[in-house]
Amino acid sequence: MDNRRLVIAIDGPAGAGKSTIAKKIADILGIEYIDTGAMYRAFTLKVLRSNIDINNKDMILSLLESTTIVFKNRHIYLDGTSVDEEIRDNAVSNNVSNVAKIKEVREKMVEMQQQLAKSNNVVMDGRDIGTVVLPDANYKFFVTASVEERAKRRYKELIDNGTNNITYEQILEEIKQRDEIDSNREVSPLRKSPDAHVIDSTNKTIDEVVQEVISIIEGR
Ligand code: C5P
Repeated sequence: MDNRRLVIAIDGPAGAGKSTIAKKIADILGIEYIDTGAMYRAFTLKVLRSNIDINNKDMILSLLESTTIVFKNRHIYLDGTSVDEEIRDNAVSNNVSNVAKIKEVREKMVEMQQQLAKSNNVVMDGRDIGTVVLPDANYKFFVTASVEERAKRRYKELIDNGTNNITYEQILEEIKQRDEIDSNREVSPLRKSPDAHVIDSTNKTIDEVVQEVISIIEGR
């Protein structure tokens, strides 16, 4: 890694607070933020809209060939249209792990992510950033929290965004299932890179975690 560049990788399970933390770090350091989960979500949205069977890999791959996904200035574009809100839909959350476990899908996304980080100072969040996408990152963090705390946060987020007819128990089950698929898939599963700093955010505020990350980067 070029020493003059600042490349930060943040990995961890769903609902650990990675994206909120990564955005704040990008603001403080004046660098770019790249949300890799948004890319997998955007393609999953297209799969769902196309009414393809989520288990039909051939159809999914043929759809991938005619799909463009762009992440720019903190917005995600699917075939040229911004889909920032649509990708947060619970239907997308519940299907994204099954799309993201496909090897060819990952290859295309990883390639795009590496291109985005090539000449910029970036903080990138996801599941395989420190291990696969940016193994030479200057700083790596693995942000976790108990599954109950993560479900509580996700539930609050959905309720705050106006989603109703959903229960905490349902979200807890959905998060457990997503953790299970993300951690056990064959291609680049969710793993802590051996050189990553682990931060458990269960009993910490977002700002406390951000401070911890900044202190490590600034060598304090
Ligand atoms: O980070 P977020 O929860 O938005 O990610 C949605 C899903 O996308 C994850 O549950 C995972 O299946 C997939 N993902 C991935 N690799 C990444 C980022 C996200 O497999 N680098």
